[in-house]
This record gives sequence, structure tokens and C-alpha cells, in this order.
Amino acid sequence: MNSTNNQKIPHIVVLGAGFGGVYVTKKMLHAVRAGLIDVTIVNRTNYFLFTPLLHEVATGALSPTCVAEPLREVFHGTKVRVVQGNVDSINTANKTVTISGNPIAYDSLVIATGAETNYYGIAGAQENTLPLKNLYDAARIRSVIIDRFEKAATTKDKSEKESLLSFAVVGGGATGVEMAAELAEFVAGISERYYSIHDCTPEIAKVSIVDTGPELLQMFAPSLRKAAENRLIKAGVAVYHNSAVTSVTPEGLTLANSTTIPAKTVIWSAGVKAIIPKFEDIQPTLVKGRISVNNFFQMLNSENVISDIFVLGDVASYPTPLPMLAQVAEGQAATVAKNICAQVSGRPLAGFTYKSKGSMVSVGQWFAIGEIFSMKISGRITWWMWRTVYLFKFASFKKRVRIMFEWTLELFFPRDITKIIN
Ligand SMILES: Cc1cc2nc3c(=O)[nH]c(=O)nc-3n(C[C@H](O)[C@H](O)[C@H](O)COP(=O)(O)OP(=O)(O)OC[C@H]3O[C@@H](n4cnc5c(N)ncnc54)[C@H](O)[C@@H]3O)c2cc1C
Repeated sequence: MNSTNNQKIPHIVVLGAGFGGVYVTKKMLHAVRAGLIDVTIVNRTNYFLFTPLLHEVATGALSPTCVAEPLREVFHGTKVRVVQGNVDSINTANKTVTISGNPIAYDSLVIATGAETNYYGIAGAQENTLPLKNLYDAARIRSVIIDRFEKAATTKDKSEKESLLSFAVVGGGATGVEMAAELAEFVAGISERYYSIHDCTPEIAKVSIVDTGPELLQMFAPSLRKAAENRLIKAGVAVYHNSAVTSVTPEGLTLANSTTIPAKTVIWSAGVKAIIPKFEDIQPTLVKGRISVNNFFQMLNSENVISDIFVLGDVASYPTPLPMLAQVAEGQAATVAKNICAQVSGRPLAGFTYKSKGSMVSVGQWFAIGEIFSMKISGRITWWMWRTVYLFKFASFKKRVRIMFEWTLELFFPRDITKIIN
């Protein structure tokens, strides 16, 4: 507890500044302003990352800083303390959390550490593929793609060119489809404009998407799945269904039926697993690798409720199973914030019901599919809606203007092929 004018103010420590952590903190700001609580938010990076637009960074449609908002800007003018550091461990008996070697005392703890790429133990997957989970991943993918073209431009051997310019995306969920569609457009655009002089033409560069299921985007209605797939095929993407990847080498993918897909560059969007912080004294109950919580988002440890630890977002397993989505984490944040404030003032806690606001997936430039209030929509207007919705998710006006500016530039000019990472 911190002390102000001899009054003890509960100290709430939020671990993770993604959709769960940032929104829970925002929803508690009124209590911070009223002097009822102190809040510290801890994150590995000093920014909030807007993951839904990462594929645009990976394909040069947006520059990296467009999709990241500095936490000190997000909480500017509030009394929220921002700490950049790694969550090393939690001690529930002492009520401390160690951040990069430094213990911080808490009265209530919020765990919102999200998830990381899951390779499911597939041979060679971690070593030979590129994940798309953070800003560095996105910048690296873009640089690797450009590097493949630069190398292909210097070889005369046609089969070597084809090999260098073979790209694959593993995972036919929303992230995989968005990535494959943008990748196809990026690759076609830069090969035609910059590299066809070296015989690296759009016909030579190949993009594939590989998924275990019978169709891509299984969470959408069949008509929308079909529309998305047709769009991918039109963009030149080879779609592999019912194709479980069993191993990955530097040359490509091997499937369960022993066929191989050549791919020098593989982007891994096949799934994620929760990041569970280390506990020094207890073990949280895990359900499918996520921390089990009760209806109020309090952490469960065997039969016990750890009433001062709340867990939300991708890392939490709610009694009603919920998808690992930003909008789920954002929705949960409102209830968690309300419950923390209620607990501090001795009021009863509330449960949570998830109401989907609908989902949209972009399939390259000028096309998206979506299901909103059970309406099935697709096409250019859906794509425009997709962009508009995401634009208004950014807190700072400066970021919105910057993104709008870059999107507008992109309509009239080719994508930038400056290779930043070597
Ligand atoms: C490429 C991509 C596209 C996506 N697109 C969509 C979309 O279009 N719509 C949608 O609804 N969802 C989308 N998602 C899913 C969405 O990003 C997650 O569901 C959401 O971010 C979960 O929020 P969270 O707060 O649980 O975790 P996160 O937002 O991942 O935040 C976790 C935070 O904790 C930090 N952290 C983790 N471990 C530590 C540690 N040990 N120490 C310090 N800090 C730590 C991380 O750095 C991160 O900032 C996408 C995800 C990806 C990867």
C-alpha cells in the first residue's frame, strides 16, 4: 500500500500492456483520479502493440511505429506509473512481483501477459519459420522478403530464383489469411516494379497458404470462407487444405501425407499458447495451458480462489470458453476493472458475459469479409469499414492521422523496399 495523507491507497499492479492490461488500466482511471487506487502497469516493451495491423507492417503497407503507441503517451496526464521490464516471478504470500530483478509490492495483481507463438513441437518449425507476434517479428518478415528478392536478383539460375522466391504461410485462421493476402500483393508488386529486370517476375514468385482444416477461416460462415478463398486464389495464392505440417526445413514444408511444399520463407501463424508467469509459492490451475479463473476473473489454485489476483485476456481460461481475441480481452477488461474497484470499496463482484461485436478479416487491399450482428458482408465497403473500425481503435489522434496518411500514400505509391534489418 502507498500512503498519502496517512491514508492507505491500494496499489494495483497490472502485468502486461496489451489489450487486456491497457484497457483494464484505462477503465480504472476514474478511481486513480479519485485517489482511491494507485496503478502501476508493467510491460516488456514501452509501447502498446496493435496486433490486428501487424501483417501490414510485415508487408510494408505501414511503418512499424504506426501500430505501436508509447505507454507513457497512452497514460500521459494520469497518475499511472509505467514500468518497462520483464515479469520474473510472483510471490503470493509476500504479495510481491519481481520485475527485472526488482520486487514491487501489490495489493491486487492483474495478470494480462497474453500469448506467444505455439510451434506444437513440430520438427524444425521454430528454427525455420518466422513468427508474427510482435513488432520485431513484423519488421523481420518484411526484411527477409526483400532480402530474398535481392538474392534472387543476383543469381542467374532460374530454379534458384524460384526457390528463393517461394513463400508460405502456415495457418488458415484470420492472421494467416490476412498475411497471405497482403504477402501475395507485396510480392507481386515489388517483383513487377523492381525485380523483373532480373527475371524475378510475379510468375516466378509463389505464395502458398497451408492449413490442417478442410477450409480456411473456419469461424466464418461458408459463403464468406469461400469468398475469402476465391480472393486469395485470384491473387495467385496456392491454397492447401487438409494439410498438417509435420516438419519444416530451410527449403520448405513436409505434410502428413509426405508431400512437400517448397518455401524458403515460411511465416508461422498456426497458433499461440498462453504466457504463464512464474509463481514462487503456488501453482495456478491451468485449463488447456491457460490460467483458470472464476466468474469474477480471480485466479484459481486447486480448489482455492486467489482473491487478490485477477487474470484476463489470452492467458485466462474463463469458465465459459472464449476465443483468444483482442475484443474478448477488451470486453473482459471492463469487468475486471469494475471488480477491482468493487473489491477495494467492499462491494460485490460481477460476472461477465461475452457479446461479440462481430469480426472482420481483410483479404488484401480493397477486400474484406465480415460477420456483424449475424449479417454476412464482403467486398470493398467491408474492407473500408474494417480499416475505419481499426483506425478509431487508436487512442492518440496523432497515430490515426499518421496511419491515414500512410494508407493514403500507399494507394498512389509503391511500397517501400528499404531493408532495415540485415
Ligand atoms: C498478428 C496478429 C493479429 C491479430 N489480429 C486480431 C484481430 O484482428 N482481432 C482480434 O480480436 N484479435 C486479434 N489478434 C489477437 C489479439 O492480439 C489477442 O487476442 C490480444 O492481444 C490479447 O490481449 P492480451 O492483453 O491478453 O495479450 P497481449 O495483447 O498479447 O498483451 C500481452 C502483453 O504482455 C507483455 N508480456 C508478456 N510476458 C511478459 C513478461 N514476462 N514481462 C513483461 N511483459 C510481458 C507482452 O509484451 C504484451 O505487451 C491478433 C493477434 C496477432 C498476433
